[in-house]
Amino acid sequence: MQGRYGEIRSLLEGHHVRLVAVSKTRSAEEIMELYESGQRDFGENRVPEMRIKQATLPPDIRWHMIGHLQKNKVKYIAPWIFMIQSVDSPELLESIHLAARKAGRHIPCLLQVHIAEEENKYGFSEETLDTMLSSGIYKDWDGIRIAGLMGMATNTENTETVRSEFHRLHVIFTAIKGRYFSGDPGFCELSMGMSGDFRTAMEEGSTMVRIGSLIFS
Ligand SMILES: *Cc1c(COP(=O)(O)O)cnc(C)c1O
Repeated sequence: MQGRYGEIRSLLEGHHVRLVAVSKTRSAEEIMELYESGQRDFGENRVPEMRIKQATLPPDIRWHMIGHLQKNKVKYIAPWIFMIQSVDSPELLESIHLAARKAGRHIPCLLQVHIAEEENKYGFSEETLDTMLSSGIYKDWDGIRIAGLMGMATNTENTETVRSEFHRLHVIFTAIKGRYFSGDPGFCELSMGMSGDFRTAMEEGSTMVRIGSLIFS
């Protein structure tokens, strides 16, 4: 495990890409092994599991929520979550804003965009994303910081499909940045790439990859 982890990390560092180690279903011992190697960013997709890990593992771990999040669960993670990468509706964004205010925080959020062919992946469409951003409603929500976009490509062996989806997400990112965040250097993250497709994602401009099976197995 350590060999592979080191190999991936040095590959990413040369490109200034942040590695989020996806630790869902992994034990505290497995997480600590990476922690001892210097890893601090970890991604989880379920609130109950993340809460238990957050309460028992070192406090300087940066926890990233990467799975579908229910509005009524936001309050449990608002006091300490580092970033919520899977914001898929204006209603969820507002709930995060309210919970963050209560916790006295500003929570960095990524807007998840649906770019894959599969129906079963969450996220804004290009249209619903544009509708929310052009409404400007999020500007009053001072509990959140929109830090960029996140997306998942189709789970396929066809590299050209994956590449064109990541490419499209980068085009959307650039357009949104120009239209709504041109004066905001905080809108800078493009989270794309997993174990099977992170090299393609990096070639298409990813700033953050979420890798699980490749480093933990
Ligand atoms: C599980 C998961 C990953 C990591 O997947 P691997 O193939 O194990 O690298 C990345 N992103 C999200 C949203 C996930 O749910």
